[in-house]
Amino acid sequence: MSAFSVSAPRKNPSANIPALAPYSQALHEYYAPLYQRVQAVIPAIEWAAHLPYIDAINRLKRERGAVILAHNYQTPEIFHTVADFTGDSLALAQYAARADAAVIVQAGVHFMAETSKILSPEKTVLIPDLHAGCSLASSITAADVRLLKQRYPGVPVVTYVNTSADVKAETDICCTSGNAVQVVESLGVDRVIFIPDQYLGKYVASKTGVELILWAGSCEVHERFSGAELRDYRTQRSNHVDGDIHILAHPECPPDVLAEADFVGSTAAMVAHLDKQRPRRVVMITECSMSDNVAVEFPDIEFTRPCNLCPHMKRITLPKIYETLLHMRHEVTVDPAIAERARRAVENMLSLSSASALPKIKV
Ligand code: SF4
Repeated sequence: MSAFSVSAPRKNPSANIPALAPYSQALHEYYAPLYQRVQAVIPAIEWAAHLPYIDAINRLKRERGAVILAHNYQTPEIFHTVADFTGDSLALAQYAARADAAVIVQAGVHFMAETSKILSPEKTVLIPDLHAGCSLASSITAADVRLLKQRYPGVPVVTYVNTSADVKAETDICCTSGNAVQVVESLGVDRVIFIPDQYLGKYVASKTGVELILWAGSCEVHERFSGAELRDYRTQRSNHVDGDIHILAHPECPPDVLAEADFVGSTAAMVAHLDKQRPRRVVMITECSMSDNVAVEFPDIEFTRPCNLCPHMKRITLPKIYETLLHMRHEVTVDPAIAERARRAVENMLSLSSASALPKIKV
């Protein structure tokens, strides 16, 4: 059973908060500069539907003293218009700890909200949809980890952050897709229990030479890609346009996909790579919204966008963020004893990461 839990909805504290304003010309003109920035990825007809929520959420945030943390896989209308901080799961947790705000709204999945709560126990952490889960996090329990430790006594446990607080609490050190190689190498041992992503584990084993005892977990989004699909992209592009394409793949993908990619890295590493290399044509082999969000930052790059959506991430919407802030509901709590043990595993990882590696805070 996960330590993830939710409190009962609080008494509605919204009596003096203005109702959702309908779409108007005044609203349209006020937000015109923002729309100019995102128009390549949000059609005008959708913008009209989003605008009342964007306006209400930004007013509610001020009223509640809240910040919104949005993962790279959130849709562009969340990522670019209401989020205060954006990034991968590690960056969001670090922002949560640094943020000068009493309330955190996690626009992401619930293991991310738990990690924010673990690092910021004094803050109120809310999630707009209680059912925003993750196939990796649900693939393993704390009891499974205890059995692995019994079977392989003395072998250190490295746990991907895409896990529940209960699982993190059984762990020596956490890792992300961005620092997994560094974390495993930092242990200086020949053998490591690496959970729960088998594909990330295989990638790390290929880079480190350390024997990894793996768990059969996987991301339901990234495991759908195949090496044949990537070869097709290259063939199609070379038949129709001049010049080659540059393929970036996330290490949660199977090995045949990574073998076809030009670059393998976490979402944060992909952004840094594009910033440095500036290839003309790019295919991003990761969750669909990532390409949309990155395309806004790199208008000079032409993106092909394979569309594998994460159904859990897509549970988070502007209306749900609005309702969460309005009613201050869906608070995520973690048992303090579990949180303390999980925090140790996360902090062991953070002590290896440089704070300067954080992407820029969005304003
Ligand atoms: S994209 Fe994969 S790893 Fe990320 S939340 Fe969705 S299922 Fe989990």
